[in-house]
Amino acid sequence: MSDGFDLGRLLAERGDERYALHARHLNHQLPRMLHTIGFDRVYERAQGAHFWDAEGNDHLDMLAGFGVMGLGRHHPVVRKALHDVLDAGLADLTRFDCPPLPGLLAERLLAHSPHLDRVFFGNSGTEAVETALKFARYATGRGRILYCDHAFHGLTAGSLSVNGERGFRDGFAPLLPDTAVPLGDLDALERELRRGDVAGLIVEPIQGKGVYPAPPGYLPAAQRLLREHRALLIADEVQTGLGRTGDFYAYQHEDGVEPDLVCVAKALSGGYVPVGATLGKDWIFKKVYSSMDRVLVHSASFGGNAQAMAAGLAVLAVMEDEGTVANARATGDLLRTRLAALVDRYELLHEVRGRGLMIGIEFGRPASLRLRGRWTMLQAARKGLFAQMVVAPLLQKHRILTQVSGDHLEVIKLIPPLVIGESEVDRFVTAFTEVMDEAHSGGGLMWDFGKTLMKQAVAAR
Ligand code: PLP
Repeated sequence: MSDGFDLGRLLAERGDERYALHARHLNHQLPRMLHTIGFDRVYERAQGAHFWDAEGNDHLDMLAGFGVMGLGRHHPVVRKALHDVLDAGLADLTRFDCPPLPGLLAERLLAHSPHLDRVFFGNSGTEAVETALKFARYATGRGRILYCDHAFHGLTAGSLSVNGERGFRDGFAPLLPDTAVPLGDLDALERELRRGDVAGLIVEPIQGKGVYPAPPGYLPAAQRLLREHRALLIADEVQTGLGRTGDFYAYQHEDGVEPDLVCVAKALSGGYVPVGATLGKDWIFKKVYSSMDRVLVHSASFGGNAQAMAAGLAVLAVMEDEGTVANARATGDLLRTRLAALVDRYELLHEVRGRGLMIGIEFGRPASLRLRGRWTMLQAARKGLFAQMVVAPLLQKHRILTQVSGDHLEVIKLIPPLVIGESEVDRFVTAFTEVMDEAHSGGGLMWDFGKTLMKQAVAAR
């Protein structure tokens, strides 16, 4: 056997070049941006909801790799499943047989949405969305997809066509025929449906950008309207799915919501193997795959590969065994309640919202003159800088990783691994309180950093 490749040696010899390699060969703006916000760090090791730098400092992960680490990093059961599947030496991806693992994972996923019948496996969230868009168009014979303002469904061309932010879309036209409707606006939805050319509405039950939940009653009412006009409801559960919001799927928060197509990805990977899944009704799949000739009309070379399926099966087994969904609900309630209690104490803190472990913390204009001047100056330079000012000390001083929830938003989003408990909640709330105290003092390093951000924002115009 060749010993020409030694991963450990490669990392030991060249690991220190990580930032330079990115700058030279990958998206050069990433190391630049990380440097600007003081996030250009080196992490060596991770477990669960924590990771450690070279000096052995523990960091709390409130971002979960944009949600893929639903069970945290290196869950032992998922890890063992991956070792096992490699050791099994399976005849995988022959493409001319029916391997067992995709069927077993489909069966397990569908058990959580009994009104759905079939699954298509791809390799990412955006691919799960692309599949739903194609299936909706083919099944209805109509071309137009509706989506919500500020929606995010991925960045390949089809998913981009239903993206609600101009910043992502600009320069990539022409995209698919589409129309945006405000989240929660049933009149706008009905107006578009009356034109008779709508294949479906794609919606995140809680929008990831800004953490905006669909208003109560919107999803069941939208479903009714869509059915009336023979159009499909597509739930994008790529971020919200698999327990994140305290229900297995976020659409289950309201009775009677039964989407025609459901997209999942992220956490199904166990944080290891990219995967996407589109669940749908039997008649939709039967229409797309209407004859033997059409067996490959929608397919993916890596779809259903054994590693991804093994990881997915292990994830679902762990979720059941460890009560992950219930933990997300209980811990999320605790975290949200404790943060919401701070709204009255801090004038810059306006709202805490979300469900389960998907929480948005929104900042806004302070009441006192003393802080208002600073706030207004920041806003004039660029919206979202204050949220960035909070995220920075959370990492630098308190070693907690969070993110601003989208461009030009004064919202921090918390999507930690669903395995966190009371001690992580305590750590976050204590750190956040300290950062808010500093922000309301109106001085110190935090506002100095704000000035630096402001100068950079103005220079970048
Ligand atoms: N849909 C939603 C709601 C998402 O949050 C994301 C990614 O953040 C996607 C789709 C795209 O997933 P991916 O990055 O795996 O393509």
